[in-house]
Amino acid sequence: MAPSSREFRPDPGLRRELEGLRGRIGANRLGSDPVVFAHAAERQSTELVAFLASSLAFGNVKAIMASIAELLERLGPRPFDAVIGRPGDIKRVLRGFRHRWAGEEDVAALLIALGRLIRDLGSIEVAFRNADVPSEPNYLVAMAQFADRLATEAGVAARRRGFRFLVSHPSRGGAMKRMNLFLRWMVRPADGVDLGWWTGFDPARLIVPLDVHVAFHGRVLGMSRRRTADLTMALEVTEALKALDPTDPLRYDFALCHLGIHGECQKRRVPSICSVCPIEAWCRLPKRP
Ligand code: SF4
Repeated sequence: MAPSSREFRPDPGLRRELEGLRGRIGANRLGSDPVVFAHAAERQSTELVAFLASSLAFGNVKAIMASIAELLERLGPRPFDAVIGRPGDIKRVLRGFRHRWAGEEDVAALLIALGRLIRDLGSIEVAFRNADVPSEPNYLVAMAQFADRLATEAGVAARRRGFRFLVSHPSRGGAMKRMNLFLRWMVRPADGVDLGWWTGFDPARLIVPLDVHVAFHGRVLGMSRRRTADLTMALEVTEALKALDPTDPLRYDFALCHLGIHGECQKRRVPSICSVCPIEAWCRLPKRP
């Protein structure tokens, strides 16, 4: 049986190896990560592009990158201006767009809602700041209020299945991977991967963007025993990561995620791969099936 988060035993050796991994897997992998679109965006559009890129970050990496590139191509060189423009123009430029089960009407509803919010408040950052309760241990309340606000702005379109998937809500129990990813990009200090764009937010309150790769590593490192990669597991893994770095628990998230994305961990014992894996000594995956 897999160990529970209470059994996670962080030690200086693991932290040292994760630091080494972070040094090896960082900005050099941007080309295969949706955050690259935020890095490339013009200044006023950076936050918006980050939100759109994270919202479409579901499915395989190749399809994600292609869909984000297509969406931004359709929006033109200044996505910020396009999104605060007329809803009719947004619907027109999105005609025929689809990313998996999010179709043109779902994405148009998201963009129109974001445009209304930005016209009212000036930025997504202000919306999150207004929604945040600083005494909360994390940004779940802020995320819930932000999602509620987007749904209000979207009107009846917020009932669409695709819109509800694009704008996840903590009350649905999902891991909130994409909104947590967006917050990681905006809040963590700029390190060549994350943007550090929002000041006044605390990296220690972030929740890990729990994808299939990080969930696997969370299990085999003993951070969680949950089979389902849900919000409870994301919170358990985040608590375990805080034992490694209480002020910056998501410090190793990008490196662990990309270890899986690039096949440097196959999520099963492969002697040629595991023998050079920096966290092999802590991996609890049975050596023999
Ligand atoms: S030891 Fe093997 S299975 Fe375990 S994390 Fe490393 S590469 Fe993955």
